[in-house]
Amino acid sequence: MADNLPKISIVVPCYNEEEALPIFKEAIIKVADSMPQVTFEYIFIDDGSKDGTLRVLREMAKENEAFKYLSFSRNFGKEAGLLAGLEAATGDFMAVMDADMQDPPELLPQMYKSIVDEGYDCVATRRVDRKGEPPIRSFFANRFYKFINKISETKMVDGARDFRLMTRQMVDAILDLKEYNRFSKGLFSWVGFNTKWMEYESIPRSAGTTKWNFWQLLLYSMDGIAAFSVKPLALASFMGVLFCFLAFIGIMFIAVRWIIFGDPVAGWASIVSIVLFVGGIQLLCTGIMGMYLSKAYLEVKGRPVYVVKERSK
Ligand code: UDP
Ligand code: MG
Repeated sequence: MADNLPKISIVVPCYNEEEALPIFKEAIIKVADSMPQVTFEYIFIDDGSKDGTLRVLREMAKENEAFKYLSFSRNFGKEAGLLAGLEAATGDFMAVMDADMQDPPELLPQMYKSIVDEGYDCVATRRVDRKGEPPIRSFFANRFYKFINKISETKMVDGARDFRLMTRQMVDAILDLKEYNRFSKGLFSWVGFNTKWMEYESIPRSAGTTKWNFWQLLLYSMDGIAAFSVKPLALASFMGVLFCFLAFIGIMFIAVRWIIFGDPVAGWASIVSIVLFVGGIQLLCTGIMGMYLSKAYLEVKGRPVYVVKERSK
């Protein structure tokens, strides 16, 4: 095998994927065999799995030295896995994909062709449907994309998967972003470069179960908003101005009524509602500020995004 062939690094974050990995391995080898014009390197990140994922990865690395792995000291999340994989990858092109076959490896030859022949820097994928997903999740996902695209300069594509093939130049740009709160969908878009979108229909998981529940996704979406927009902070000031204005109108109204009708009857119920309402808005605004403060706090601490416990040689 010639050493001067271009190399594609495949980065695969894995959390409890012992059942899915053998299926993935077989599929990706088939694809690699169909692309003799490139060499491959595979980087699996064991994200503190509780099942036999690390054992499977050790066996794969023993079988074939193109299969490399990193194993985290605990679960750090998919974003940390992606970062570790991209940092460790040595290829001229890099692909990130899930281990569960929801990102079809058969698309790789076409993606590679688009970069080499059509001059794109990146080929990304998006799902055109949300089959097999609870309707409530699809509903909130839709809202999230509408909302974040309204308030953020960085555009996020609805249905975009993390599955993409990038040039080393683009990956280097992503690795230059040193933030601790990493929201990859946003980072990929923030660095720019020419991206081609490929669409496909949702594919069910090959084995194992999804690692996300509704609340985790909700928190993840808030991370995304905090990482790519500061507009919610402006909301606090806006509401402050609005309430001052409403209070002013109210005072004028009471003053005029007092002049015309004399002392008004005490309206304690309405006062209590207003006090509660304004108190609620104030807490909401404090909460929004707290969210940004907590993100800034984590950034300032400068902790590493992940800790590696074991790696293939
Ligand atoms: N994953 C990870 N760390 C986590 C959660 C998930 O590395 O804490 C990996 C997981 O093994 C899979 C990918 O991220 O390869 C996507 O996860 P999953 O398939 O559960 O998400 P879904 O496709 O359901 O959105
Ligand atoms: Mg999946």
